[in-house]
Amino acid sequence: MNNFSLPDFKQLRDMSRRADEAAVQQALRTNRPTLNDLAALLSPAAGRRITALAARSAEITRQRFGCAIQIYAPIYVSNYCINRCAYCGFSAGNRIKRRVLDIDEAAREAELLKGRGVNHILLVSGESPERAGVDYFVALAQRLRDHFAAISIEIQPLDEDEYAQLFAAGITSVAVYQETYDRELYPTLHLSGKKRDYDYRLATPQRAAAAGMREVGIGALLGLSDWRAEGMALGMHLAWLRHQFWRTALTVSFPRLQPAAGGFTALQQVGERQLSQLLFALRIFDHDVGLLISTREEARYRDGMLGLGPTRYSAGSCTAPGGYSDEQEATEQFEVDDHRSVDEVCAVIRQRGLEPVRKDWDAGFQMAASA
Ligand code: SF4
Repeated sequence: MNNFSLPDFKQLRDMSRRADEAAVQQALRTNRPTLNDLAALLSPAAGRRITALAARSAEITRQRFGCAIQIYAPIYVSNYCINRCAYCGFSAGNRIKRRVLDIDEAAREAELLKGRGVNHILLVSGESPERAGVDYFVALAQRLRDHFAAISIEIQPLDEDEYAQLFAAGITSVAVYQETYDRELYPTLHLSGKKRDYDYRLATPQRAAAAGMREVGIGALLGLSDWRAEGMALGMHLAWLRHQFWRTALTVSFPRLQPAAGGFTALQQVGERQLSQLLFALRIFDHDVGLLISTREEARYRDGMLGLGPTRYSAGSCTAPGGYSDEQEATEQFEVDDHRSVDEVCAVIRQRGLEPVRKDWDAGFQMAASA
C-alpha cells in the first residue's frame, strides 16, 4: 500500500478560497460530496452562509448518529517528553513539574473517573518511550480493560507491530494529530526529537488502522497555519483512510491552541465562527465521521454546538498527570475552559433533547458485523 500524500499546502489554501455562492449551494445540496464541495464549504463564501451549513450538518448528524453524544475523559499518565514542540507546555525545553504515574497510580485515576460515571477513557502522555513505552501501556490496558467500555490512546506514534500489541492488550482506538499539515511550517514548530519527522507522523493513522485498531482519530492544532487549508488536508486524509480501511471508524478533533507553559502565542487566529465552519464542513463532507469537541472550549460554546455536528464530548477533564487524585504535583498540558463535572455536562446534553452515552456500543456492533 502507498502512503497517504498531500498536494502542496499553498494549493490547498487556494482551493479553499475560490468557491462562489453557486458552488456553496451545490455543496449543501449534494448527498455525495467531492473534494471540490469540501473546498466550497470551507470558503469565505460559505462563511457567509454559516446558518445554512449548521442546519445541513445538524440534519446529517441526526440521521447518522440519532441523539447520541458519547462521553469520554482523558487520563494524563506522563508529562515527560523528549520532543521540543514550540506550542506545547510539555515540551522538553520547558521547566515544569514532571511526573509519570506508575500503574497503580494510573489505575487509581481510572477508578476515580469510573466513580464519576466515565466508561470511555483516553490515556494521554508526552512522548517519552523510556518512561511510558509500549510495555507500560500494555500493562495498564490489561489492568483496566475489564472495567471500561473503551480505552483509547493519544501517545507517541508507534510502529504497526506495536499497535498490534496494544490492540491485543485491550486498546481499541488511537488518536494522533498531525498538528499542522503545512509541510513548510512543520519543522519551524517541531524543533527537535522524533516528532520532526513529518512523514512518519503522517503515516501513523494508517499504521494504527493496519494493526487492527477499531477507531483512528486525526486532527490539526488550530492556530498554527491556515485553518481552511488544514480543513482540506483533513478531508483528504479522511477520504484516503476511509478508502483504504473501510472497517475502521474515523474521528476528527478540533483542538484550538490554549495558553500553556512556554508562552507560545497562536500564529493564526481561529475564532469560534471559523471553528464551527470547519466542523460543519467536515460533517457535510463525511457523514459518518465522529467529531470531537474537548474541554479546551468554553462551556457556552460546547453547549451551543450540541445537536449541530459533534458526536463526542470530553467532560470533567484534567490535563495533568495525577490531576484527578487529591494532590496536583505535575504541570498540566494546557488550561481547560470547561470545568464542569461529568454529571453537569450530561445534564445539559439531556436538556437539549440529546442522550449522553457513557457506553461505547461501536465495539459490539463491529464484533456482530464481523461474526
Ligand atoms: S505536543 Fe506532544 S510531542 Fe510535542 S512537546 Fe507536547 S507532548 Fe511532547
